[in-house]
Amino acid sequence: MHEGTMQAWLESSPFAGGNASYIEELYESYLEDPGSVPAEWKVEFDKLPKVKDGSPEANFSQIREQFRVMASQPRRVTVAGDGVDAKQVKVLQLINAYRFRGHQHANLDPLGLWQQERVAELDPAFHSLDSSDNDKTFHVGSLAVKDETMKLGALADLLKKTYCGSIGAEYMHIVNTEEKRWIQSRVEAVAGKGSFSTEDKTRILNSLTAAEGLEKYLGAKFPGAKRFSLEGGDALIPMVKEMIRRAGEQGVKESVIGMAHRGRLNMLVNVLGKKPQDLFDEFAGKHKDTLGSGDVKYHMGFSSDFATPGGNVHLALAFNPSHLEIVNPVVMGSVRARMDRRGDQDGSKVLPITVHGDSAIAGQGVVAETFNMSQTRAYGVGGTIRIVVNNQVGFTTSKQEDTRSTQYCTDIAKMVQAPIFHVNGDDPEAVVFVSQLAVDYRNTFKRDVVIDLVCYRRHGHNEADEPNATQPLMYQKIKSHPTPRAIYAERLAAEGSVNAEQAKALSDNYRDQLDKGECVVEEWRPMSEHSSDWTPYLNKQFDAQYKSGISTDKLAQLGTTLATMPAEVKLQRQVGKIYEDRLTMSKGEKALDWGMGETLAYATLLDEGYHVRITGQDVGRGTFFHRHAVVHDQTTGNEYLPLKHLKEEQGTLDIYDSVLSEEAVLAFEYGYSSAEPNGLFIWEAQFGDFVNGAQVVIDQFLSSGEQKWGRLCGLTMLLPHGYEGQGPEHSSARLERFLQLCADDNMQVCVPSTPAQVFHMLRRQVVRPVRRPLIVMSPKSLLRHPLAVSSLDELAAESFQNVIGEVDSLDPKKVKKVVFCAGKVYYDLLDARRKNEISDIAIVRVEQLYPFPADEVQKVLAQYSHVTEFAWCQEEPKNQGAWYFIQHDIREALPAAAKLGYAGRKASAAPAVGYASVHAQQQQALVADALNLEVKD
Ligand code: AMP
Repeated sequence: MHEGTMQAWLESSPFAGGNASYIEELYESYLEDPGSVPAEWKVEFDKLPKVKDGSPEANFSQIREQFRVMASQPRRVTVAGDGVDAKQVKVLQLINAYRFRGHQHANLDPLGLWQQERVAELDPAFHSLDSSDNDKTFHVGSLAVKDETMKLGALADLLKKTYCGSIGAEYMHIVNTEEKRWIQSRVEAVAGKGSFSTEDKTRILNSLTAAEGLEKYLGAKFPGAKRFSLEGGDALIPMVKEMIRRAGEQGVKESVIGMAHRGRLNMLVNVLGKKPQDLFDEFAGKHKDTLGSGDVKYHMGFSSDFATPGGNVHLALAFNPSHLEIVNPVVMGSVRARMDRRGDQDGSKVLPITVHGDSAIAGQGVVAETFNMSQTRAYGVGGTIRIVVNNQVGFTTSKQEDTRSTQYCTDIAKMVQAPIFHVNGDDPEAVVFVSQLAVDYRNTFKRDVVIDLVCYRRHGHNEADEPNATQPLMYQKIKSHPTPRAIYAERLAAEGSVNAEQAKALSDNYRDQLDKGECVVEEWRPMSEHSSDWTPYLNKQFDAQYKSGISTDKLAQLGTTLATMPAEVKLQRQVGKIYEDRLTMSKGEKALDWGMGETLAYATLLDEGYHVRITGQDVGRGTFFHRHAVVHDQTTGNEYLPLKHLKEEQGTLDIYDSVLSEEAVLAFEYGYSSAEPNGLFIWEAQFGDFVNGAQVVIDQFLSSGEQKWGRLCGLTMLLPHGYEGQGPEHSSARLERFLQLCADDNMQVCVPSTPAQVFHMLRRQVVRPVRRPLIVMSPKSLLRHPLAVSSLDELAAESFQNVIGEVDSLDPKKVKKVVFCAGKVYYDLLDARRKNEISDIAIVRVEQLYPFPADEVQKVLAQYSHVTEFAWCQEEPKNQGAWYFIQHDIREALPAAAKLGYAGRKASAAPAVGYASVHAQQQQALVADALNLEVKD
């Protein structure tokens, strides 16, 4: 609206100073049906400019903004004073109040312990409405009921039922009007209550019976054993089963579920269909020989299919560690991989469900990271259904003032305007109703949605834990509180739908099934073929054979194709130069630099049909301006990805700058690459230093997932690392920490030093039938180092060399000392040796630090069998870098009488010094030490 026109309307409007949300509400009703608002308002709204077709939201948001301006202006004319029915206005305000704050009066806590704030606006008296108005008829505005008018008394009852029953719908923080209206239409139209047939009710009771039955059975059979019982939150089982059923009906084909330990055994047996006997065996301490270290039973994942009216849904419960919320981004990554595999662009076919604890969802920052990721290009999964098993206590901590800073543990979800449905866990029909709502909302709007299942924890944190020590009052209540199944069975008996004998029969039948030890889930089906195929990678070791050769012609052709820009793409000057150089390199007229070596690795893999996914901070360009896999047209600003235009039928390339996170995004990529073996999946840190922001993912998943759970993962991590005088924070990717985690051939740690090496290393990660993490200390200054170049022949003819022996033509017999090193320091050593014309010290690069290439080192050393002086040279301080880890491996490879010395920085608490001059001095000294030179002052 033209500002002057709006101003004029504002000036003349009798509504200035009105309640903005109320006027907005009226206006929305008017937009839907101009006749639905009182005549006085219609006259005023008619004066407003019409919302144009095409972009109603844009126009509407302008008008809405003006309503806000109006509301903030001093009230000049009262609505009532102007002849408008003042009570009608108040009634609409009452409706609005329930929509906004009704959840605060909802009956959510089964234990009745919650201290709910009294919300004055929910009282008609607050709006100057009294009992004498109860029989008066009012317009109900946009309230989603069939009658346009209602008597106030009936309306107030209806609002209470709708918004203050067993469900507290919190959604008015959503800006999108369509979403708000959708929720209203679903909740208000049925007065906040689903309707269920006797068959539905029996099914719900059956699920509750299973939830309770399993815990009781385990409690009796294995008294005192930890099982992290679900009891109190039993409604989780009918909730999740309903979600899967409904999602299946709507075309979902797979669902990945993430949850911590609480209730996990129950989910495994009663939803995923794990055989009770297998669980009993685990309780009895039996183990499968196929797993390495194995893991406790309440961390284990499971896969199965689940029959629904729309066909089978494949279920995968993600393995997870005790670090509660970290599994959420893993689940999202796994979902995204499955979506990509199915060509599912918006998440219609794959549903993520994550189960959270009340303390953890509010407390752990990784949750916020996942919300922030939820609608982004790289990480979007079409919305996650997030369930909070809100048992009102985290281990022994239950005071709200100790666990969070707001009333609800779910407030974090408001950062993405997700609707939140709080629901009383003792009302399973309400629980199932919100489950349906959540699935429908997620599948309609493809956004996150939260269910806050308010319940309790019948025992301590685990079954050996005494909760009365810390929560005496709560547990006095719990002790006498009937179970959800008992409450529901009684309710069904009272209403005459399932009688007591029938309910008992369900319990008896469930117990009999457990006795047999066979699957208890009626919907369980064996897994069909749709999952990824990991068989080519199972039981394969690093010496597995592979074919990697690429001809120079092919390299030249791919290089030329990717370096030839369409005429219409106008490149920025320096980027243009880089691509011109790439063209020259492709013709063999210039040595290949790092960027080209790496780009050709991607190009060859894409050419062979592999999927390449690269994410991380600024990866499109590359932190250090070397990659430019995504270029930006200087005229239009549009992105162009040369690697996407190699040929018609090529592999998929996904390259996305990530959100500014390490923890959640690395967990996501772990989830992705442990769900999809077929491709090159890379996460790059902006600087390697930041990788410790994702330490949990490295410790709990990447380094140990295969050993604990038998789950392979081929993720590659590129971590810029190197001492270049940039201070403590931009030098080290903490190589020592990765090496310390290395055992059982769990991963590879590489420090490639040439473009050909990075080319072969990346290719090997895909074409070798081994799927284990690859950790790369990648370079910074080497990206442009004149000596760090390779020829097309080196890319064509060789494979990755775990060890690179001396390259200068030294006479091996004259060599008196051999210096081992890795990474950038090699070039410092080479440069100093050449400058000082040293010919009796050989330099050997260990390009793969783990698994240590003992045979290859010995092969290189064969010519130096007479040498007794050896050294490991590194840039990192002595307590960091590879030294403490690798010295044992190197010593074993040395001749008997040989000595291994250390040339490097002395031990230090910080990774590097902050002063460039001190750095330079240290660097010079360590190189001199390695080469037996005098240090010049
Ligand atoms: P999912 O689709 O995750 O339910 O997996 C289905 C089946 O594929 C599992 O039961 C495993 O046998 C196998 N599988 C899935 N992911 C992996 C993995 N990362 N490593 C090894 N096998 C896997």
